[in-house]
Amino acid sequence: MGLRNFEYIEPKTVKEACEVLSRYPEEARIYAGGTSLLLLMKQGIVRPTYLVNIKRIPKMRYINSDSAGLRIGALTTHHDLEVSPVIEQQLPMISEIEPQIANIRVRSTGTVGGNLGFAEPLTDLPPIFIALDARVRIETPESERVLPLEELFVGYYETCLEPYELITEVQIDQPPANFGLKYLRFSAGSDKPAVGSAAAVRINPKSRTCADARVVLGCVGPTPLRVREAEDVLKGSEFRPELAEQVGEIAARACSPLGDIRGSEEHKRAIVRVLTRQAVEEAFARAVANPAKQH
Ligand SMILES: Cc1cc2nc3c(=O)[nH]c(=O)nc-3n(C[C@H](O)[C@H](O)[C@H](O)COP(=O)(O)OP(=O)(O)OC[C@H]3O[C@@H](n4cnc5c(N)ncnc54)[C@H](O)[C@@H]3O)c2cc1C
Repeated sequence: MGLRNFEYIEPKTVKEACEVLSRYPEEARIYAGGTSLLLLMKQGIVRPTYLVNIKRIPKMRYINSDSAGLRIGALTTHHDLEVSPVIEQQLPMISEIEPQIANIRVRSTGTVGGNLGFAEPLTDLPPIFIALDARVRIETPESERVLPLEELFVGYYETCLEPYELITEVQIDQPPANFGLKYLRFSAGSDKPAVGSAAAVRINPKSRTCADARVVLGCVGPTPLRVREAEDVLKGSEFRPELAEQVGEIAARACSPLGDIRGSEEHKRAIVRVLTRQAVEEAFARAVANPAKQH
């Protein structure tokens, strides 16, 4: 199916973009890399009257780091993350996973803002970012707010954003010492993940017990899922294989995967169990191996 006619708008600033979006809340759609939106437009599922291309707004494509942490501009592409020395040094988990995401065409143009703002369940960055307690900066024509990323997602392809709001930045604090993060995904041979599991732990260096933990699942429900019961089991515990096993069991019970061509509900739960166990094991190993900085 071909594309329907639309009016193409190329705002020069974030404020201008938000103003257009606010003028046409029902009829306008943001176009960043276009990797997701164009597919929907070609299929006639989305038919915007106004296409608001934000890609040429300057100063939205950057990866900045200082003592407080990382700031990633919303127009930063997957490929920018993949090849960034700053990301490799400070968030190597992202450098590790990026080559597995989609394909080089999507990674070259698909943006971080689009990955989050589209709120597709089958994605990898949200569980990793949530495990890092990432926040998003959101701008409107008049103001800005900063929101924990976890609160952005409210349903299948649904965020809490107002139609006139734009994600402009992802903010991640400098990970503390004795911190380890591991994300694992199972793709069932497709470009997109079928199941993803992120585990992050901070350990007490003396006792080697877990001081803080995040367990976040992706693709197995309408939004990324923080498994707080699993996090509570980890906190205060020393690593044992049975602990990782238990956390895997809890995660498998907590999620609600849909059976589809990527696997039945049962199959996906079994994968959640295995991936989460392995992610917890590896997160502890990384925390022990990195007394001074995160890996
Ligand atoms: C074949 C394929 C395979 C994929 N595989 C993976 C994968 O393995 N892992 C993974 O994580 N992702 C995967 N993706 C998703 C990919 O990461 C996203 O398509 C991409 O990041 C979206 O970015 P974009 O800039 O192209 O968004 P666009 O297509 O330009 O925009 C889509 C929508 O996102 C919203 N949006 C865009 N930018 C903003 C913003 N700044 N603020 C608010 N809302 C915004 C708007 O609603 C917009 O209409 C895959 C996509 C495809 C097509």
